[in-house]
Amino acid sequence: MIDLRSDTVTRPTPAMRRAMAEAEVGDDVYGEDPTIRALEERVAGLLGHEAALFVPSGTMGNQIGMRLVAEPGQEVLCDADAHVVTYEMGAAAAVFGISTRTVVSGGRLDAEALVAQVRPRGDWHLTATAAVAVENTHNRGGGLVQPLDQLQRLWNWSREAGVAVHLDGARIWNASVASGIDLATYGRLADTASVCLSKGLGAPVGSVVVASAERIAAARLWRKRLGGGMRQAGVLAAAGQYALEHHVERLAEDHEHAQALAKRLGVDPAGVETNIVVLDDVPAPVVAEAAKARGVLVSQVGPRRIRLVTHLDVDRAGIERAADVLAELLAR
Ligand SMILES: *Cc1c(COP(=O)(O)O)cnc(C)c1O
Repeated sequence: MIDLRSDTVTRPTPAMRRAMAEAEVGDDVYGEDPTIRALEERVAGLLGHEAALFVPSGTMGNQIGMRLVAEPGQEVLCDADAHVVTYEMGAAAAVFGISTRTVVSGGRLDAEALVAQVRPRGDWHLTATAAVAVENTHNRGGGLVQPLDQLQRLWNWSREAGVAVHLDGARIWNASVASGIDLATYGRLADTASVCLSKGLGAPVGSVVVASAERIAAARLWRKRLGGGMRQAGVLAAAGQYALEHHVERLAEDHEHAQALAKRLGVDPAGVETNIVVLDDVPAPVVAEAAKARGVLVSQVGPRRIRLVTHLDVDRAGIERAADVLAELLAR
């Protein structure tokens, strides 16, 4: 099977498994797992933040990140297709009593449009906007990279308005590799950020939240409350460390593969910025079923929309084969 449903399907490589097997571990709830501590320090440094916390999933990372900057009864503003409101099971409301409000954008950040929706604190009638959440790259936006000037505009404005910025950086690595803009530049334009090790980087489990040291101390409490305090999880952090050393630069290969798929499938390659290819106006269930029968798995993200995600478990030959199968199906 050539599995293009998501970059979460990647399996740890033999070398990554060796690194996991050899990891030095301790009880991380006591703060004694050296591999986790090293990973946290490294990711904080990469993103230009003071401190970091290893968490089991990107969802927990986002939800804790947002809770650090919003109180129950306040709202977080984000775009209507954001992962934090689409794929996290209403967690902000269900778990934290945080309200969310959305702006339709198609994924591309329009700082001015977002800022125009912010509601001030201290008004007796309005739900106060405590934070805005930005996703980079944008999943449902087809892996698009947020423009740096928009991120900067949003950040500058947020400082004046006293509103926080949370970055859902599940695929910030892809954004950085595609744009050539370093991770810290992106990281410094957010108060809190969550980044995933288990997507294109290929680790089996894990995300990291970054913020100020004070906020990360609070994040540690929230993680424990949510049942995310893990013990000898250095075996997992070792996979993340391995991924950061060996699987970041190679994301360029996934981006090339996405370009190749786009060209073969009649999708404008200019609209494919990273590792996600969206096929629109296709009968999604029919195509997905027929592709599966021929050894290619794809995601249906709407009745007439299919998503293909390239990643380190599909090599060039696999991409060519998937392109052959899908091109033939689409031609019918
Ligand atoms: C995958 C993803 C997450 C986190 O997902 P988990 O499955 O909870 O790890 C967060 N944001 C975006 C944009 C994602 O694509």
